Amino acid sequence: MYFSKAFIPILKNNPAEAKIKSHQLMLRVGMIKQSSSGIYSWLPLGFKVMKKIEQIVREEQDRIGVQEMLMPTIQSSEIWKESGRYEDYGEEMLRIKDRQNREMLYGPTNEELVTEIFRSSIKSYKSLPQLLYHIQWKFRDELRPRFGIMRCREFYMKDAYSFDLNDDDASFSYNKFFLSYLRTFKRLDLSAIPMAADTGPIGGNLSHEFIILADTGESKIYTDKRIFEVDSNSTILDKNSLKKLRNEYENFYSVTDEKFNKNEFEQKVPEEFRLNTKGIEVGHIFYFGDKYSKPMNASVDFQGKKEFVKMGSYGIGVSRLVGAIIEAKYDDKNEIMKWPLSVSPYDCAIIPIINKNDSSNLEKSNKIFDYLKSNKVDPIIDDTDENISAKIKKFNLIGIPFQLIIGKKSEGDLFEFKEIGKETQKLTIEEITNQINKLKSN
Ligand code: ATP
Ligand code: MG
Repeated sequence: MYFSKAFIPILKNNPAEAKIKSHQLMLRVGMIKQSSSGIYSWLPLGFKVMKKIEQIVREEQDRIGVQEMLMPTIQSSEIWKESGRYEDYGEEMLRIKDRQNREMLYGPTNEELVTEIFRSSIKSYKSLPQLLYHIQWKFRDELRPRFGIMRCREFYMKDAYSFDLNDDDASFSYNKFFLSYLRTFKRLDLSAIPMAADTGPIGGNLSHEFIILADTGESKIYTDKRIFEVDSNSTILDKNSLKKLRNEYENFYSVTDEKFNKNEFEQKVPEEFRLNTKGIEVGHIFYFGDKYSKPMNASVDFQGKKEFVKMGSYGIGVSRLVGAIIEAKYDDKNEIMKWPLSVSPYDCAIIPIINKNDSSNLEKSNKIFDYLKSNKVDPIIDDTDENISAKIKKFNLIGIPFQLIIGKKSEGDLFEFKEIGKETQKLTIEEITNQINKLKSN
């Protein structure tokens, strides 16, 4: 891909309407474009990042045995009346009427719909547990949409649902998601901490929010700093190891503000470890037992008796994560972004120094492009006639982690290669390819 042909509409300055760095950067480098309040188009650069995040989220759901499906965005009001949430949800729900005058809505979440799907097909406890997920657009008519795609009205979410026979099995399911979330955020190079949370309009009794620390976050948190040291590297999926893993986190007081209790905080956390700060909620898991299965009559036969299934739900804000990663990684003072390689829109920027009447560096770049491509590296060539320092500045902003400069200095077989934030190296193209691919496989 040539930069001149890519749809990457870069702005000269930070747009005045954006208050936080992720919103500024996403508009500045043309990742998104607002189409109306709280509703955005995802332009190619932003879309690429979101799709990569989605794929990591998907792989980590699949790894714990959750089955992917796809439910529609538009739902019927009937099922929401059954659960009692049609009234409760209030103005955040976008309500629509179809031509037959039927009450429809744009789904803000899917507990009702998935329960309806479950109850019409699953009858025996032998089919349990059922773990289902989808990745789909949601709509919530937020009172104050703000911060770009961080708190918008239409957003992309992974939501999963678990169905079990009893509390014990349900807590096993919950813990699988707990582990899978730790793994997901780690692959995104984020330190997301599970914090005991309130269950809000979803209801229920057990809940964790996964939060990354950021001054611009909207969640207030109270935590024991030692929770950052817990080893999250576990991969074992058996009941006891998972229970142990969750316990290791729960040993440390770590809550969102709805759960905060000053006395408890001071009693449980020695002063030097107390941290009271702000963060961004990137995921939320709930256990709510039969809150939906009972009113909606979702049950299985077990030993001749009818048992309402025990349910949990598990969300990840896939689109919010794009902004959250920027909040975590962008140095806005120096205007330098560096995407984790796992989600970067491109792996490497090839930056030729282009002189008038001399296309040799561009030709060299084309060859390097083909070589990288055939070795599983995804590059982009900057063929524009900007000067080299403007080009570097631009790529520092876009945040592609590697820059390969093709100019006079790239004599013989050695090229100037730079990983953002590190010293420039002189390497052969084979060494460059190996370095990138080695980091990719991590
Ligand atoms: P918040 O407290 O931020 O309003 P929530 O608790 O209402 O979020 P959940 O129902 O738990 O959200 O949704 C799951 C995930 O979806 C959240 O953890 C968050 O990452 C994301 N999300 C929720 N609301 C929005 C929104 N308005 N814009 C973008 N992402 C959102
Ligand atoms: Mg939440």
